[in-house]
Amino acid sequence: MKIPKTIKVGGFTYQIEIVEGLWRETGNWGECIHPLSLIKLDASMVGQELSYCFLHEVLHAIDMVFTNRVLDESCVSGISQGFHQVFGDMGIIFER
Ligand SMILES: [Zn+2]
Repeated sequence: MKIPKTIKVGGFTYQIEIVEGLWRETGNWGECIHPLSLIKLDASMVGQELSYCFLHEVLHAIDMVFTNRVLDESCVSGISQGFHQVFGDMGIIFER
């Protein structure tokens, strides 16, 4: 499944940007910037890494919009790994 240019989370439309050099500049493979409704993903990622990172940042957006950030980083990582595995087993991989 192709990563969309935008996703709706609650009443917010998040832009999805594939960014060259994000990891080099920030040390992050992905970022979810809530005040800008923006998700950035490092352009060097492919395959499973990109798919996982997309799900991870989407979960940050869902956590912010629907639960006001109740999940800490390890919860977001664990839950998004779970979605990545379950979706992957169903053949659902998010790609460019
Ligand atoms: Zn995170």
